[in-house]
Amino acid sequence: MAAPYGPTRATAGPTGSRHRTDAAVRAGAVALLWSTLLLVTYWWTTGGGVQDLAAWESGLTSVGRLTGLLASDLLLVQVLLMARVPVLERAFGQDRLARQHRIIGFTSFNLLLGHLVLITWGYAAGRLSATPATLWELTVDYPGMLLAVAGTVCLVMVVVTSVRAARRRLRYESWHLLHLYGYLGAGLALPHQLWTGQEFLVSPAATVFWWGLWAATAGAVLIWRVGLPLWRSTRHRIRVTSVVPEGPGVVSVYMTGHRMEQLRAEAGQFFTWRFLTGPGWTRGHPYSLSAAPDGRSLRITVKDLGDDSGALRGVRPGTRVLVEGPYGRLSARARSRTKVAFIGAGVGITPLRALAEELGCAPGDAVLLYRFSDRPLFADEIAVLARERGLEVVWLPGRRRAPDSWLGDGVGAVDDLTALTFWVPDIAERDVYVCGPEAWAEDVRRTTSAAGLPADRFHAESFGW
Ligand SMILES: Cc1cc2nc3c(=O)[nH]c(=O)nc-3n(C[C@H](O)[C@H](O)[C@H](O)COP(=O)(O)OP(=O)(O)OC[C@H]3O[C@@H](n4cnc5c(N)ncnc54)[C@H](O)[C@@H]3O)c2cc1C
Repeated sequence: MAAPYGPTRATAGPTGSRHRTDAAVRAGAVALLWSTLLLVTYWWTTGGGVQDLAAWESGLTSVGRLTGLLASDLLLVQVLLMARVPVLERAFGQDRLARQHRIIGFTSFNLLLGHLVLITWGYAAGRLSATPATLWELTVDYPGMLLAVAGTVCLVMVVVTSVRAARRRLRYESWHLLHLYGYLGAGLALPHQLWTGQEFLVSPAATVFWWGLWAATAGAVLIWRVGLPLWRSTRHRIRVTSVVPEGPGVVSVYMTGHRMEQLRAEAGQFFTWRFLTGPGWTRGHPYSLSAAPDGRSLRITVKDLGDDSGALRGVRPGTRVLVEGPYGRLSARARSRTKVAFIGAGVGITPLRALAEELGCAPGDAVLLYRFSDRPLFADEIAVLARERGLEVVWLPGRRRAPDSWLGDGVGAVDDLTALTFWVPDIAERDVYVCGPEAWAEDVRRTTSAAGLPADRFHAESFGW
């Protein structure tokens, strides 16, 4: 069993320089994205796109071609964002990548619809009434068009189920399963353009670009989304060593395996776990490490919020575990300051508890604000961190006192900002690590921002999807 607050991994100095590398990668990725959009627009221009705007019918087709090109580019980019490419995962973090994936995905889909309508309208010589017949002809006569229609149907299904109102009605597993059709959609929608699209064939450079982007995306998904987790799970052969109750409805699962030091996990990160206990193994769930990895074992702490999290209580020692990860940048990686503040709520304390152990702060350099409804988790372990590492702790008992406050009802009449700056007067000078429900974390963001904390020093992980 892992020592709950055993030896910590050495971190590269108090702050390290990885946050600067990550900022450079983020800037580079954004520049690359815009460059590809400009490049495809340039090829559209050199292919006569602008001249074609002179007449109504050719103008419709021309704008349709441009929207199709931009849609294809963004379609591949949004798949790439979720391919778990390590350099992107490290620089952005999975939650931020997921948000960008959503924005780019919806933009790509809208452009795709524009492409479909405008191209058909243009081929129908600008006569709206002729578009249904033209669409039929294009579908059956042009190579790859039937596949493209099937791909579009898949993408429509993915987009409809991802609109927030629909998503709220679905279980995560159902939504996720439907979402996987997005790969099929992207895979089927693109070949017609590669086979027939004028801009794809306009020059060897364009052909290489499009086939290259398509192959790189498919390769990234196969390597990092499928291959690497399988390889890691096989190599490390992780097994449960024990399951320990932590409080009402909360258990810690301790695990060990082979060559665990090579897993390169950091405190504050999470894995997606599959416990091979029976039919439920197909459903992976993300859980954060609740103790700093010591190179031999891992620990997660899970609140019973549903069928699979509740079932962990009954998992037997020896159970094999498949893992995807480590993911997330709520870790030492994001740190740019010597002083830090951890702000957590409920079971959101798990990654912060591990971070407080690993960051190796000098006494007084780290403060923890911990809000909990009934009983705090890890009360004894936090007390040891306070005693032995000088972690300052502000306990915030009670349910949230108001929907727009992130504090508990034990705090009194003072407003959130005054309370925060009373407890942590130099909050704006620190790195702030936050974990809890999404809406709660948003309230914390507002208060820390009002206290003068720059946005790039607010590091949050939400347990939602
Ligand atoms: C990055 C991350 C780290 C997390 N770390 C922890 C942790 O350390 N400890 C902990 O107790 N919980 C953690 N969670 C939440 C945990 O993943 C869910 O509570 C768990 O997946 C619920 O599974 P279930 O089948 O028991 O619940 P369900 O009955 O399926 O649903 C219960 C609730 O959990 C949500 N949920 C279900 N599946 C997921 C999923 N894959 N991702 C996010 N939310 C989901 C549902 O929307 C619902 O609100 C984390 C979530 C994320 C995204």
